[in-house]
Amino acid sequence: MGFFSKTIRTLGPWGGYQLARQICRNQPRILMYHRFSDPPVKGGASPQFFEQQVRHIKDNYNPFSLVGLMQYKREHGRMPSHAVVITVDDGYRDFYQYAYPILKKYQVPATLFVTTGFIERKLWLWPDKITWLLNQIDDIPEAIGVGDLVITVGPINDETRPVYWRQWIDHSLSLHDKEKHHFIDRLAERLGITFPLSIPPQFEPLNWDELAEMQDNGIEIGGHTVTHPSLGRVNDSQARVEIFGCRDALNEKLGQCQRTFCYPNGQPSDFQSFLPGLVREAEFLGAVTAFSDLYGTQDPYLMRRHASGDDMFQFFKATSGVEFLGHKLRRRIRLRRESFLGATDIASPGGNT
Ligand SMILES: [Zn+2]
Repeated sequence: MGFFSKTIRTLGPWGGYQLARQICRNQPRILMYHRFSDPPVKGGASPQFFEQQVRHIKDNYNPFSLVGLMQYKREHGRMPSHAVVITVDDGYRDFYQYAYPILKKYQVPATLFVTTGFIERKLWLWPDKITWLLNQIDDIPEAIGVGDLVITVGPINDETRPVYWRQWIDHSLSLHDKEKHHFIDRLAERLGITFPLSIPPQFEPLNWDELAEMQDNGIEIGGHTVTHPSLGRVNDSQARVEIFGCRDALNEKLGQCQRTFCYPNGQPSDFQSFLPGLVREAEFLGAVTAFSDLYGTQDPYLMRRHASGDDMFQFFKATSGVEFLGHKLRRRIRLRRESFLGATDIASPGGNT
């Protein structure tokens, strides 16, 4: 654990979180969740922890959906104070099962970003296909070459599965969208496995009726493309189909209303500079990434999000603003170090000056 984390763990409960909350009162924090499960699984959120978090947000902050936050900003010319936004990606059924009843109980709004082709069951999300493949096999009996990737021999167990998973996911993300699907199909073929025709229960999406019900009860249903490609790996016309197609499906099935958007995967490599313009043209009021840094909500079409889940330390760090302040502090230290080193260089006798 780094010095920064240690300091927060010590000082946070002794007023550090309260202090950060006060300093960051005009900087909304957007939290990001993906899957919910009971019993808990690593990296997900369980109803027990989620209820504690929702109650904490309700008692200490001003909860908004993302579209609510953007509408407030447009109306008042500034962000609301102490705002926290809960966002959930993709459109899995577990949101309806575990998270929605809690949000409804506490009357806390949230934003659910859905991949419309997934909701229509035309596809299952490609990372789930990789997860599913790895759950079907006990070992890689001989080295396999799929495209540029060589998969080494080895057992598949709790220890090695995440390593293979990361390798196959990273390789998929390095490919253009069509090549990525081709890679996953070839991978299955080489492993001698056929994908089921329907989406397996653990990866099932919500349906339009459930989405309509939630939309009527304070949940914004936002856009997350049609097929969940990395938008860093598509051309302008493909991006247009993904962004506008998603908007049209949402408006057709759930009625026309203002919404926000979320870039799939959401890392810097999943992004291209023309995307915010397209998202704005499709009349989304704002858009979010999947990482946090010191830019926070500065650009409405590239707002940063803080990871959340069952890790309460991460939750408090993200919600209070400590994580955001940490990014600012780190940058300040880096700049100071750079300017110090720069000054030393200039003053050094061996320099060219
Ligand atoms: Zn996603």
